Amino acid sequence: MKKTDIKSLTLGELSVLLGELGQPVFRARQIYKWLHQKMVCSFDEMSDLSLNLREQLKELFYINAVSIQRKLVSKLDGTTKYLMKLSDGQLIEAVLMRYKYGNSVCISTQAGCRMGCKFCASTLRGRERNLLPSEMLDEIMAVARDTGERVSHAVLMGIGEPLDNYDNVVRFLELLSSPDGMNMSLRHVSLSTCGLVDRIYDLMELNLGLTLSISLHAPNDEIRSRIMPVNRKWKVDELLDACRRYFDKTGRRISFEYTLIDGVNDSERCARELASKLRGMNCHVNLIPVNNVRETAFRKSSQLSIRQFQEVLTKQKINATIRRELGADINAACGQLRYEQAES
Ligand code: SAH
Repeated sequence: MKKTDIKSLTLGELSVLLGELGQPVFRARQIYKWLHQKMVCSFDEMSDLSLNLREQLKELFYINAVSIQRKLVSKLDGTTKYLMKLSDGQLIEAVLMRYKYGNSVCISTQAGCRMGCKFCASTLRGRERNLLPSEMLDEIMAVARDTGERVSHAVLMGIGEPLDNYDNVVRFLELLSSPDGMNMSLRHVSLSTCGLVDRIYDLMELNLGLTLSISLHAPNDEIRSRIMPVNRKWKVDELLDACRRYFDKTGRRISFEYTLIDGVNDSERCARELASKLRGMNCHVNLIPVNNVRETAFRKSSQLSIRQFQEVLTKQKINATIRRELGADINAACGQLRYEQAES
């Protein structure tokens, strides 16, 4: 019989299954806390359960845990990049960032990615598979176990397209914010998407309170379709309409990611076009110098053009900041560690 992934179950589901084993109601909560608060990786660590029950649990369930394969720690700011292995050998990446307001972990949502953005290392070898809710949770737990520190924030901005793994991501968010579990406020969570418009509308209906980040990277279809194939399906205007509706419904300000690529999307004209598209929208623009990826021809914009781009936006009353580069000395762009490991 196939064992059940116990860490992907909600407390309600676990209660039903334990009820079927004749266990009292409080038992499910006790086990749920071992998994989600004490973050144990084996049933043997659940010391207040009888040996008999632990054996029974081992027969029916397994605990999904990732293992840390490699770790790069920035000497500049403590940012830590982890290469992690899933139970079937797939590799993913997670990054711990330390801020004044707390520790934030950037997690992967898929092994690989099929979105094909031209500047991104994560998509070079396509998508292998979706991550399970338990695997996304354990990326955060592995960092907490490794550092012994609390993780208060999460960003879904690692390898993969979260909205291409919609059901598992939504369940992960439910588990992450469960009061009997990690109890992370979804106000402390950002989800970044390349713009799967149909799923943005689905997410809007759930009104989860998280911050939606849109990887925009271009002000018009001509440039965006060239660097982001997803734009051939959903055009810039459709995407921005969805964002406006998302804000109207949820009251959550949209955050736009704009990666500046030398000679591609960093001209003053692009900045003006972007400003006119975003005018009147309650949003924030995050300007990011593109990380050079060896396999692509794209290069970083100069500091000067980045500052000029920001100035144009600011003058037009569009809130724009330049992303502080954390962990500059371990600078491996999204998906590069995984890619290099697979190639070597
Ligand atoms: N698929 C989601 C989330 C993962 S990518 C998305 O597209 O938003 C996380 C962010 O990193 C996205 O904004 C993506 O466009 C950006 N990114 C990818 N490769 C990059 C690179 N080489 N330099 C800078 N940002 C990059």
